Amino acid sequence: MGVLMSGYAFFVSQNTDNRGINLFIYIGVLFIAYGVFRLLTSFVTTSKPTSIDSKVIIRCPKCQTKHYSTSNYCHMCGTKLK
Ligand SMILES: [Zn+2]
Repeated sequence: MGVLMSGYAFFVSQNTDNRGINLFIYIGVLFIAYGVFRLLTSFVTTSKPTSIDSKVIIRCPKCQTKHYSTSNYCHMCGTKLK
């Protein structure tokens, strides 16, 4: 979006002497900066181990069967895990 806008603005500025188009380019650059910022923040968010934290492996206290911590009861013996 931002790349298209600034690219279009640059293309237009090449063909016109309109000084006001510089503002349009500036807005386009801002859009690129915002897009990069969004990209970086989304990368940081996805790389965060928040989803892993909700799936910690725990063991049943009775039969030692491995379970995700999201499980409330042991699937093997039915012992309450929490
Ligand atoms: Zn068990």
